Amino acid sequence: ATIGFDLGITVPSGADRFGYDGAFSMLGNALPVLAVRDGAGWHLDPYTNNGESFYSLASDFRVTLDHPSTLLVPATGASVDTPGSSGRTVTTATATKVRDFAWAAGPFSKISGTSAAGTPINIYSVSGISSADAQSMLTTAKSAVDAHSARFGAYPYGELDAVIDNNYWFGGMEYPGFVLDLVSTTALTHEIGHQWWYGIVGDDEYTSPWLDEAFTDYATDLALNKTGANCWSSVSWASSAEKITNSMGYWDAHSSRYSTVVYGYGKCALHDLRRVLGDTVMAKLLKDYAASHWYGVSTTAEFKAAAQAATTTDLTSFWTQHRIDG
Ligand SMILES: [Zn+2]
Repeated sequence: ATIGFDLGITVPSGADRFGYDGAFSMLGNALPVLAVRDGAGWHLDPYTNNGESFYSLASDFRVTLDHPSTLLVPATGASVDTPGSSGRTVTTATATKVRDFAWAAGPFSKISGTSAAGTPINIYSVSGISSADAQSMLTTAKSAVDAHSARFGAYPYGELDAVIDNNYWFGGMEYPGFVLDLVSTTALTHEIGHQWWYGIVGDDEYTSPWLDEAFTDYATDLALNKTGANCWSSVSWASSAEKITNSMGYWDAHSSRYSTVVYGYGKCALHDLRRVLGDTVMAKLLKDYAASHWYGVSTTAEFKAAAQAATTTDLTSFWTQHRIDG
């Protein structure tokens, strides 16, 4: 079947993942994507400002952006510019096996480099970002993409674009091959980690936000040489209903606990799992799990089964103690 339609997009005001900050427009989640239908039926979950509720399957995009030549258009995928009509440039972005297509448009300052392992990286800065901060983010992005690639499998999307704006109300936001970020080493390393946990290995972000956020924050810790030593000793549950594996429906009603539990306790649980399995087994588990779910969809049940298969230790009480259900 073929579906086609015309669509006009009015970008709202605001330094947001879908919004404009002065002359700079960010177009995340601006294009409709096909809803997933599986054994649980159609997934038509509501938008949340608290995090993400996006769930889509890997798809191929070929997008033509016809724009004034004074604007740059960082985007998902690998881009090629050709001259357009007078004063215009046609940018063609090609992306394979991505879950979404996002882009930005504006008179950005652009610097580029290539990571040691060979991934081209472009840093696009809005006005007001210093060249030293842009260089620092380029250095961070190079290290992060190589660190995550070494742990979870080579970055498959060709180039990687980061749009840096200190006016975002959030730390960062991930799209395939395209991230939005404050000037922040931790946030940029985190959003690049999402290329694997959300992007390459997908998940239903509404039902199981920990599968992308906790795994990405764990990856961020590893990339920044943080071990989460004794992290579980500071865990304090707000109620018996609070669990790392709760859905965005729960977190929208308990938003003050979302980051603490899903990111903080979630990554700590993965550090603790590493301490149970041992560093080598944990590293192999995640690399093998990424490979077996490459461009697919992770579920809590599948991850738990994979972890259990990697050890002779019965993990039943581990999952109970860490409130990882499913
Ligand atoms: Zn995240």
